[in-house]
Amino acid sequence: MQIRLSPRISYIPATDDPLSADVVIVRGLSYTWVFDVGADENTALEINLISGKKAVVLSHFHKDHVFNLDKIKYDRLYVSRFTFDHVNTGDIITNDFYENDGGVHIHIFPIPSSHAKGSLGLEVDNEFAFLGDATYSQFKGGSFVYNSQLLKDEIDILNNIDAKYFCESHHKVFARPKEEVIARLKDIYSKRKNGNALISV
Ligand SMILES: [Zn+2]
Repeated sequence: MQIRLSPRISYIPATDDPLSADVVIVRGLSYTWVFDVGADENTALEINLISGKKAVVLSHFHKDHVFNLDKIKYDRLYVSRFTFDHVNTGDIITNDFYENDGGVHIHIFPIPSSHAKGSLGLEVDNEFAFLGDATYSQFKGGSFVYNSQLLKDEIDILNNIDAKYFCESHHKVFARPKEEVIARLKDIYSKRKNGNALISV
């Protein structure tokens, strides 16, 4: 099942059992851009039904986002250096990457993240930015925490993204106003305590 976000963008929603991330499908002229590939068998089948060339972007290395990689056909793959160390394939993104695919404007960018090292986002047409799990916390020492420096850097990076809508994987409401997502991160950042690198949430 695909849900449409715009004439050129749709997504296969995340599932809880098995845990599988949202898979975003962007139809460009030369490629269909696929952001994350999920872990659910039906999702792999659905991705393989897409005709033409596919360019895959992985948000980070966690299984619910990358497990299907071996089960799908693709022509290009973009990963962070850290994700490369887990999947052992793909072109490594270290800086902003831009491509105009027949009028569809693709922008891949690294996101400092407490949740997962080497997180990447995908911005399309200055309208939607897909963030994977980058805005989420990390489970550490029995609690959910953010690293305050990474969170500050993340807020700075996201503030500079032009997209009107930010899409966080697994979220019930996938596309939300950029301001709403940033406001939540700023609220968490405001709870930091002097001398403590971690913020508990
Ligand atoms: Zn996830």
